[in-house]
Amino acid sequence: MLNCNEYNLVIVTSKGEYVEKYVKLLKKNDLKVTPQRIKILKYLDTHRTHSAVGEIYSFFKKSIPSLSKTTVYNSLDTLKEHGLIQALSICGSEHRYDFKNEMHHHFLCKKCGKIYDIDFKCPNIKEIRKEIESSGHHIKEVHGYFKGTCNECYQMEKNSE
Ligand SMILES: [Zn+2]
Ligand SMILES: [Zn+2]
Repeated sequence: MLNCNEYNLVIVTSKGEYVEKYVKLLKKNDLKVTPQRIKILKYLDTHRTHSAVGEIYSFFKKSIPSLSKTTVYNSLDTLKEHGLIQALSICGSEHRYDFKNEMHHHFLCKKCGKIYDIDFKCPNIKEIRKEIESSGHHIKEVHGYFKGTCNECYQMEKNSE
């Protein structure tokens, strides 16, 4: 089994340098507009692969040699704290970042490490919330994690038998 660090990032280059969207997003959340934050938001928006910090750092290191992994991590953390992005702990201690911040579930392939979005609204969510909040708890995040073998890996496995 591969771990999450070893999966191959598919690099999709975005057309143009449209950043207005990210500037607005930062301002709306009372965050200082910095080039790093814009770059990271744009990266996550155009690479919907649920990247880990290492992948994001490697992507920018070529064009910004002075960039440190800590800076990337801190920017991600701030964006997460303000609810602009979400961090998934589906791989254990390694966080994977998601531009899509509204509630959705995830499926992790334990062979290739890819994370797929599962856009299914849980029909019981209201009841579960009510149950938890009736004890006086406050919910800040909701995650549904499913793990297994993705279709691609499953087909490969079948063909090699
Ligand atoms: Zn797979
Ligand atoms: Zn997602």
